[in-house]
Amino acid sequence: MNDILASTLDIQALRADTPATTALLHANNAGASLQPQPVTDTVLNYLALEQQRGGYEAAIARHAEREAVYADLARLIGAQSRQIAITDSATRAWNLAFASVPFRPGDRILTSMAEYASNYLAFLHLQERLPVTVTPVPSDETGQLSVRALADLLDDRVRLVAVTHIPTNGGLVNPAAAIGELVADSQALFLLDACQSVGQMPVDVGEIQADLLTTTGRKYLRGPRGTGFLYVSDTALDVLRPPIADLFGARWTERDSYTLRRDARRFELYESNIAATLGLGAAARYAAAVGPSASWARIRALAERLREGLAAEPGITLTDQGHVKGGIVTFTVRGWEPPQLVERLRARDINIWHSSIESTRLDMEKRGLRSVVRASVHYFNTEQEIDRLVEAIGSAR
Ligand SMILES: *Cc1c(COP(=O)(O)O)cnc(C)c1O
Repeated sequence: MNDILASTLDIQALRADTPATTALLHANNAGASLQPQPVTDTVLNYLALEQQRGGYEAAIARHAEREAVYADLARLIGAQSRQIAITDSATRAWNLAFASVPFRPGDRILTSMAEYASNYLAFLHLQERLPVTVTPVPSDETGQLSVRALADLLDDRVRLVAVTHIPTNGGLVNPAAAIGELVADSQALFLLDACQSVGQMPVDVGEIQADLLTTTGRKYLRGPRGTGFLYVSDTALDVLRPPIADLFGARWTERDSYTLRRDARRFELYESNIAATLGLGAAARYAAAVGPSASWARIRALAERLREGLAAEPGITLTDQGHVKGGIVTFTVRGWEPPQLVERLRARDINIWHSSIESTRLDMEKRGLRSVVRASVHYFNTEQEIDRLVEAIGSAR
């Protein structure tokens, strides 16, 4: 292990917090990571409290802890508590943001080639009701979104620039800050899908100048399943009205009028999974304690080792793109359908995953790919695990 990394992160302690690492080689962190012990404890403790006291009464008893989750999430991305809404997934957060944009006929949406399927489906769904155009910004020679092409496309009719930061199907990291800088000088809103980046790399909404940012709990952030959150900038908060108003996001002040909450929680509903919310807060604190810069450096180093190892194996073709590459490593293996290879490794207690054309159709079609194998590493993986992974995949051939 590299000395600088070893001195920054105590890998043995991080693995001790992740009990399954003794039995399992987990490289499916882009699917769902393993929760650290404090996250699991937080969720279980709260469920026990609900059982003992009742749901409303438990919520009152843990009110302060629940409020603190907003600050924990905000701190993780350089935001303020008032700018955070907690949701049950990233897709929910993204769709709440998207549905609140006041589109008019003739508006244009610019997006990335590596855009996530559910985002693109939302564009198609909107187009059934409203004549808006959707234009994918071409990628540059490294495979990342071309900032120059974006500058050319960004005219007065563009209402929204919706970009995926790190796609589900590879190591690519799109240049979020350069995109944000351009969009900030335009009429458009900037919506960043940061599902795979929050928890993997340092993400700062001020630096990125995002109006809206969405992410999930279960992936690199290592939180519980069924969680996600939405960041809304103060300027966006002023102009965006949520698609749904309930008695939590709004107040019914008179028979025929209501007022929306002033903070981002106008996007939330009254009912939510409080145990999971508290677990998400614990995950955010854990990520902050590990340190986004140290974990990003280690994740990249482990992913590079994996790419080098796989590249040396005959019959394996790496499919990662980008000027900067992160912890998601994708490839094809001659003679294997990705799901079958995943199953074979799972039988040996090695967790990897696969990604098909249906998740990122624009990008996969352009590159003539139908399906890829995906190994996504986290800071708690070890060099020995990476080497074992290379060996297991190489020997499958
Ligand atoms: C996983 C993923 C999503 C969806 O997240 P959910 O929490 O499952 O809704 C969105 N965008 C990208 C890039 C993803 O990888």
